[in-house]
Amino acid sequence: MAHADLVILGGGSGGYACALRAAELGKSVILIDKDKLGGTCLHRGCIPTKALLHAAEVADSAKESDSFGVRATFDGIDMPKVNEYRDGVVGRLYKGLQGLVKSRNVTFVEGEGRLVAPDTVEVNGERYTGTNVVLATGSYARSLPGLEISGRIMTSDQALNLDYVPSSAIVLGGGVIGVEFASVWKSFGTDVTIVEGLPHLVPNEDEACSKALERAYRKRGINFSLGVRFASATQDENGVHVTLEDGTQLDADLLLVAVGRGPNTSGMGYEEQGVAMERGWVLVDDRLRTNVPGVFAVGDITPGLQLAHRGFQHGIFVAEEIAGLNPAVIADVNIPRVTYCEPEVASVGLTEAEAREQHGNNVAVYEYNLGGNGKSQILGTAGFIKLVQLTNGPVIGVHMVGSRVGEQIGEAQLIVNWEAHPEDVATLIHAHPTQNEALGEAHLALAGKPLHAHA
Ligand SMILES: Cc1cc2nc3c(=O)[nH]c(=O)nc-3n(C[C@H](O)[C@H](O)[C@H](O)COP(=O)(O)OP(=O)(O)OC[C@H]3O[C@@H](n4cnc5c(N)ncnc54)[C@H](O)[C@@H]3O)c2cc1C
Repeated sequence: MAHADLVILGGGSGGYACALRAAELGKSVILIDKDKLGGTCLHRGCIPTKALLHAAEVADSAKESDSFGVRATFDGIDMPKVNEYRDGVVGRLYKGLQGLVKSRNVTFVEGEGRLVAPDTVEVNGERYTGTNVVLATGSYARSLPGLEISGRIMTSDQALNLDYVPSSAIVLGGGVIGVEFASVWKSFGTDVTIVEGLPHLVPNEDEACSKALERAYRKRGINFSLGVRFASATQDENGVHVTLEDGTQLDADLLLVAVGRGPNTSGMGYEEQGVAMERGWVLVDDRLRTNVPGVFAVGDITPGLQLAHRGFQHGIFVAEEIAGLNPAVIADVNIPRVTYCEPEVASVGLTEAEAREQHGNNVAVYEYNLGGNGKSQILGTAGFIKLVQLTNGPVIGVHMVGSRVGEQIGEAQLIVNWEAHPEDVATLIHAHPTQNEALGEAHLALAGKPLHAHA
């Protein structure tokens, strides 16, 4: 039986971040994963999808080259080559991560683990005990009752590995994963229809962002149906046939089921060891402790935002907590969120509706249109930056839409997390011509001294 200060079950964003930070703090660490180190984000999530989105941007640039006076033709997508490029990116990062884990003397154990005692994980008949145990087994792509994933009906796991561009696709779910795949496929030449049961695409975002994305998608020729729920789907050799609850029939080459991700926790011994759970999620307090002493949980298995950087932050937090460093708690609402479709949607903090719900009329809002931003004009993108402020107080929400605005989220999250007032940001200098300037301009306006905007 091997023993370590920390035994971590799951080597995805949450688990490996915890391992690396704990090792840095002088702790001994055993990190267990049944699959490849790096988890969903590196192998089936963030990185491969963003590589596809970059290939999509290159395709769009070729198609639109004429409007910039550049002679180029778009001849089509060579999907095996796109996949080769994507795999190259993932492969290099995977190698780097393996090197990091090794260099910090983290013991990596390959195999399926099960919690057999509050301080013990069993893998392939071997037992590993930890002074502390960290559960980090992540999430899986969910489907709907009666909707079986097979053949032409797939989740992001299979959609990522297609070696052809579908001629048409139905995307079930207008959340982050759904709109990102819709964006890639449209750029690659697929006829796409998104089906979203709620009234808006990216329904968790500020409504202004959802509406702007809907306008942009309409312009791009991406079809979507909002506010009507999916009823059933069948498939045959010709394609998939989807029926909505209002009787609408849709046909396509394939159906992508992007209706959310569930916690990967069943059959792992958590309940048996007395870990409190709710509908499969592991419940934790704000210091990421489960109800079982010495057992923590991080990342997608805990209720809340399912984002890789939340997993990293959770992992680092738990390592520092165990080392007695008393790290600061970061509320989910102040974690930055980016949807990498074209145009991008990026946000941090409260939406206008949430702010009004919490603070009533004590809320000020300002929207800066990217029409006045030089770099956005150069890129040819429309969009805006919307600020939500506590009246005469700090900025509590930043919401952005436009090509590449995800790159602005770094400053936006500093503003919200450091509780900056518009006047604080207005005195700082934003380089010209950048899209970052738009963030500066929005704060100048909210501070009562607009420059390239009407008062
Ligand atoms: C298509 C897609 C795109 C995404 N894009 C983004 C993005 O752009 N930005 C972003 O921030 N997030 C994105 N995400 C979400 C992000 O991938 C997750 O939030 C993140 O991976 C969660 O990390 P985790 O450590 O909690 O879980 P995971 O990364 O899922 O890792 C869990 C690990 O546990 C292992 N495991 C599970 N059970 C066992 C067991 N019994 N024994 C041993 N090992 C086990 C698994 O093999 C896995 O490696 C995306 C997700 C998807 C699916």
